Amino acid sequence: MKRYTVALIKGDGIGPEIIDEAVKVLDAISVKEDLEITYKEALLGGSAIEMKGTPIPPETIEIAKSADAVLFGAIGGPKWDDLPRDQRPETGLLKLRKALEVFANLRPVRVYDELINASTLKPEVIKGSDLIVVRELTGGLYFGEPRGYEGEKAFNTMVYTKDEVRRIAKKAFEIAMKRNKKVTSVDKANVLEVSQLWRDTVNEVAQEFPEITLEHMYVDNAAMQLVRDPKQFDVIVTGNIFGDILSDEASMLSGSIGLLPSASIGEKYGLYEPIHGSAPDIAGQGIANPIAMIASAAMMLKYQFGEERAANRIEEAIKKVLKEGYRTRDIAAFDAKEVVTTSEMGSLIAQYASEL
Ligand code: NAD
Repeated sequence: MKRYTVALIKGDGIGPEIIDEAVKVLDAISVKEDLEITYKEALLGGSAIEMKGTPIPPETIEIAKSADAVLFGAIGGPKWDDLPRDQRPETGLLKLRKALEVFANLRPVRVYDELINASTLKPEVIKGSDLIVVRELTGGLYFGEPRGYEGEKAFNTMVYTKDEVRRIAKKAFEIAMKRNKKVTSVDKANVLEVSQLWRDTVNEVAQEFPEITLEHMYVDNAAMQLVRDPKQFDVIVTGNIFGDILSDEASMLSGSIGLLPSASIGEKYGLYEPIHGSAPDIAGQGIANPIAMIASAAMMLKYQFGEERAANRIEEAIKKVLKEGYRTRDIAAFDAKEVVTTSEMGSLIAQYASEL
């Protein structure tokens, strides 16, 4: 039996509701796959402000670092919106990401055939799309120095070192080895020196992965290609600001925010979370879609624990519930046979995942 500990950060709004469903599914597949997952709860965001007076109590970082992975729901809500920036829930999450040194943000985008009409794009364009954006998360324009706002002038600095590019490129190639073995590196090397260094370094890393097909694409073209022909992509690797924009664009291929998981990983730690927020407008009503959260748990199994078979069980179970026409309210407009609650959706996925 393989044993793992998971730090469980439920957070605010729909966070606790959807995390409970992810745990339900993990427990169900643990029995099948002979895993023992132990959970340690930690506070972050609004709930931490309420109970501990700070968005990130020190013990949360300790729990997160002592676990094998962090599974995180969502944080925030109108109650804490007027607090000073350093006391707001989001500050807690940024500090956690920094403490865990997670430099790669992974956002897979899969288009489920059954929900093809949920996208604003034409079905024939998106059908069969299955890509992942690997975004550098801790460097580039958002962190570069010097930066400042001085009267009539403001400036930021885009800077990358070869080491920073090497480690994110390596992650992207490793991920591509488990997928369709194609990497598209996105930059602006026709204009930016930083991008030229990015491109040179990605080319160097590519030497270690002869099985991977590597292509380079300028970011403006990539933005266009993503909506023109998304099926051409497998793994997209890019810097912080380009990745921020392209991953949001890519998420629209699937059409529903409640379906998309993400992971932020580093050399050691990993934080797995849905891309959506705490959805305070629907919290406590049992109508949130838990699929993004459950798919994030599948990513944890795959990328952190190397439990690919267990992860596949979950992914196949998600496809099956959608195929059978079960829908939470957010996706009810798309060929629903039965509209189910958050908890019913979790139970169905847990059941199918253990039957497969
Ligand atoms: P949101 O993602 O929470 O919600 C946007 C819309 O999508 C809402 O109508 C919501 O009901 C819906 N939605 C989101 N997730 C859903 C799900 N699983 N099932 C069904 N519907 C879902 O974004 P927002 O409204 O801009 O932000 C709400 C709060 O969340 C804010 O406090 C914001 O700061 C915070 N937030 C947190 C994170 C995070 O924890 N990582 C990310 C984004 C926003």
